Amino acid sequence: MDICWGAFLKALRQHVATAGPAQQSIALILIEIQPFHIYNFQFGFEAGETIAAEVLTRLKNYIKKAVVLERIGVNEFAVIIEDVPIQELLFLSAQRIVDALRIPITVGDEALALDPYLGISLFPDHGQSAEALVSEARIALQRARDSGTAYHITLKKDSEKRLAQWQMEADLNRALATDGLRLCYQPKLNLQSLTPSTSEALMRWQLPNGQTIYPSRFIPVAEASGVIHQFTEWAINTALREVAELTPENGDELSVAVNVSTTSIYDRSLAFTVESALAIWNIAPHRLTLEITESSLIKNPQLCFKHLSELREIGAKIAIDDFGTGFSSLSYFKSIPADEIKIDKSFVKHMVTNEDDAKIVELIIELGHKFNLQVVAEGIEDRETLKALQALQCDYGQGYHIAKPMDYQSYQNWLSDFQIDRH
Ligand code: C2E
Ligand code: CA
Ligand code: CA
Repeated sequence: MDICWGAFLKALRQHVATAGPAQQSIALILIEIQPFHIYNFQFGFEAGETIAAEVLTRLKNYIKKAVVLERIGVNEFAVIIEDVPIQELLFLSAQRIVDALRIPITVGDEALALDPYLGISLFPDHGQSAEALVSEARIALQRARDSGTAYHITLKKDSEKRLAQWQMEADLNRALATDGLRLCYQPKLNLQSLTPSTSEALMRWQLPNGQTIYPSRFIPVAEASGVIHQFTEWAINTALREVAELTPENGDELSVAVNVSTTSIYDRSLAFTVESALAIWNIAPHRLTLEITESSLIKNPQLCFKHLSELREIGAKIAIDDFGTGFSSLSYFKSIPADEIKIDKSFVKHMVTNEDDAKIVELIIELGHKFNLQVVAEGIEDRETLKALQALQCDYGQGYHIAKPMDYQSYQNWLSDFQIDRH
């Protein structure tokens, strides 16, 4: 049987070209038959061809409105329907096609059951070109396969959301190339000596129109697109470069903490990136802390521990961020290769008024100290909380009450003002 993908695409292009000006709708249905390869292997090529021929016959019987109906791959079929009435009817048709294809096919003495998967896209809702429709239908097909439901129809809002995501991915790549990223610094104050010897670098994305985008919006997209590795590399290098230039008047060396996302911590080249950056900016490794969230540990503790140990061998420090929210078990905790834990701000925020939160904070501080870890409390928003944490012997504190995240210049000013205030 002929497999004619090229001819099919050509036909789809023609239908799109004529449907456009006429404001007509078109549905593209991609159908995949499983487990075709297994049957081909078990019963031979001839059996496979018999199945494919029967599928084609059934499709032709059930989809009377098809203007084109072709086999486009070994186990793939494609259908074009014009003048699609309403999407709800398309769901019904999809179910009818699935039911028809699920009737077992007799090959020799065997009755072979098939699993059909359908991915459907619509013109003009999901794409203006044949290629865009195919791409949407393929994504829908994959959704159907992944979710184990027989068919998936791309909804307009899905494709709009995806378009927005792709746009942001492209913009993020550009931001990296055109100097659109910035680091803000939020001091981590030593609560016992009240020295501001370290800070956390927090990333900001500055749009050309001056608008600032916060990491909760763009880090997930950067992770999904893979550009996060370059972001991590950029953040480590920028933080080290900027901190190397900042030395307070009393000559104390400043340290800095950089956030490392889950994807980057599992990246084998992270240790190399860190080692190179430390060498380039000539910074002693202990001045760099990498913050990783408790929840990224849990994904694959063994591999994560291995990578953290490599980083510690280089001499960098490790902080476990958002501690208390990731539900890691205490058995992991005892072997975490870390130097610091950061109590999540959700516990710190209300510790003065909420007795349970206060108990959790106290427990985490005790636990950390028992395991020789420094403890940092984040989210300190008032003086009472700061005092309470000092009384509990918490080592470091961070929060709006001490200082908000500041751009590089403001951080520099803050450091000198801080020293003046202390004199
Ligand atoms: P995080 O590491 O837990 O950072 C703390 C967040 O709490 C920051 O938000 C900070 O601005 C905010 N914050 C600080 N003090 C207070 C306070 O007193 N009260 C309250 N309510 N919030 C406070 P931001 O800068 O929007 O960052 C959000 C998250 O984005 C960070 O959470 C971190 O997970 C991630 N992130 C930031 N920069 C980077 C980066 O360079 N790389 C990666 N992978 N993630 C980053
Ligand atoms: Ca952090
Ligand atoms: Ca945190």
